[in-house]
This record gives sequence, C-alpha cells and structure tokens, in this order.
Amino acid sequence: MKKICVFATIGILFISAFFLFTKDEDYTAFKNQEDKEYSINMKRNILSIMMGYSGAVVDIETYDNKVYLIMKSGNRILYDDKKNKTIQEKINNPDLQDMMEQQYNLKNINDIANEDPGRIRHYQLLKEVYGNTKKEIEANLKNLKFGNKYYAFNSKNNAYENLNKSMNEVINICKVDNTVYKYIYPISGTFNYRVISGTNRLSPHSFGIAIDLASNKSDYWKWASKEAGKKRLNSYPKNIVKIFENNNFIWGGKWKHFDILHFEYRPEFIYKAKYLYEDIDSLQSWYEGADIKDKRTKHYIELINNKIK
Ligand SMILES: [Zn+2]
Repeated sequence: MKKICVFATIGILFISAFFLFTKDEDYTAFKNQEDKEYSINMKRNILSIMMGYSGAVVDIETYDNKVYLIMKSGNRILYDDKKNKTIQEKINNPDLQDMMEQQYNLKNINDIANEDPGRIRHYQLLKEVYGNTKKEIEANLKNLKFGNKYYAFNSKNNAYENLNKSMNEVINICKVDNTVYKYIYPISGTFNYRVISGTNRLSPHSFGIAIDLASNKSDYWKWASKEAGKKRLNSYPKNIVKIFENNNFIWGGKWKHFDILHFEYRPEFIYKAKYLYEDIDSLQSWYEGADIKDKRTKHYIELINNKIK
C-alpha cells in the first residue's frame, strides 16, 4: 500500500511538473507572439508616419526601452507612453501608437462604423508639420479657388496640392454626373481656427487640413440619429470618397462618430491602409506591401531597421 502511495505521489508530481512546464512554454510563446506583433505594428506605424509626413521626421532614437521620432525642428515625439488609457484619455492625450491604433479601411461601408480611425490626432505632430501657432499656420495657408470663392488650405506637406487635385477631379465627375454637385457645393468650410464644439481640443480645421463639403442635417453624429446617418452614408456618392482617399484624405463618414461632410488630409492613414493593410500573421517581413523600389520608402525602412531592434 505504502509503495503504491509513493508511486502515485511521484506520478502526480511528474504530471503536475509536465503541465506546469507546458503551461510556461505556451505562456512564453504567447508573450513572444504578442511582442512580435507589437514590434511589427510599431515599425509599420512609424513607416506610415514617415511616409505621410516626409521630411518632418528625420531620425529615430531609442532610449530606456522607449522609441522617439526626431523631428526636423530637433524636437522628439514619443511613440508609445505604454500607459493604459481609456478612449477618451487617448483622444485627450494620445501618443503616436494611440493615434495609429485604429485602422482606416479603404473599402466601402454601408453602415455606421464601430470605430473612429483618424479621429485621434497628435497635436504636437500636426504643429510640427503645419505650424505651431495660429499666426504660423496662417502664414502657411494658400487660397484655393472653387466657383467664385476662395478656400484657405495649408500649403505644407502637400496638403493644398492634394486638395486642389481632389477638387479638380470632383469637378470632372460633376460634368458627367450633375447629381454629384449638390454634395459638394456650397462648400461649408476649410480653414477655421477653432476648438471642436464642446471640447477644448483644436479642430483639424485649425490647421487648414480639413474640408467640409455641402452640409446636410444628417451629416454629423451630434445632429442626427444613427439611422439617419446610415441613410445619408448610403446615399453619399462613393466616387467623391474615392477621389479624396486617392489624394490622401480620410473620410469622416467612416467614423462611429460620423462626420459625413468632413474630409481630412491624413496621409499616414491612407499610406497604411493602401500598402500595409494585411493580416500581420502571414507577413514575410514587417514592411511587406511597401514599395521598396521607391527610394524614400527604402531609406525609411533601412532607418527603422537600423534604429529599432
Ligand atoms: Zn470638418
């Protein structure tokens, strides 16, 4: 009897050790997988930011396990503060990782979205690129003529050029389909230095990087029910959306907090959606999808590989 007990105890010890060991193994594997995904995402986000704000980011620095982007001004921007934040905290005080967390999708949608990709804005980044103060931003504005009116837009980072291109393309579709025109004109506004209503955060219109096209009562989540927003979303001409997206604008119609008349120049989101939107599990390299024949892309990939281990 005693012998059986000893054997049983040894047996149980072995089995427990086995389970303990396998559990540890799995845990390590999971942790490594999580780290791997984090690292891939970080590199892809940084590449998208560098491509979207070309010339504004000049270097990368890692210090005390943290990654910083070095701006042309010499200022640095932290990639990830590693704090656990609620969505509201992320909106109020985002790092670059928070900003890029939600993926903008170039596909058509036919219902109000569950997320707000691009609605988190990193003000330090925007100020570095488009102007630090109202005065600095105003000095960077250029007027775009549409109809018999002028619309001010930021000339930095090709924002004005991309708006100009979009509006020319939109005019061309209006010529063949005159039903589109009422969605464009009268344009509700471009540059306007103001805070977002009900908040103390600057609107993207303050930087001269957003345009509101013709307004409808169902365009904005604060004005309309989800059902009314969905109806407006589905009636909205998709060729307008395509044109703006092709020119590096994201559409507020793809937000949970919908803003259907609003288009915002956010090349980092369009870059990521266009080139890097694949399931990261099946990637051969973290930059798969990027055009490595392009000199600028290649340079940034090399920089990221050299600086982030
Ligand atoms: Zn707007």
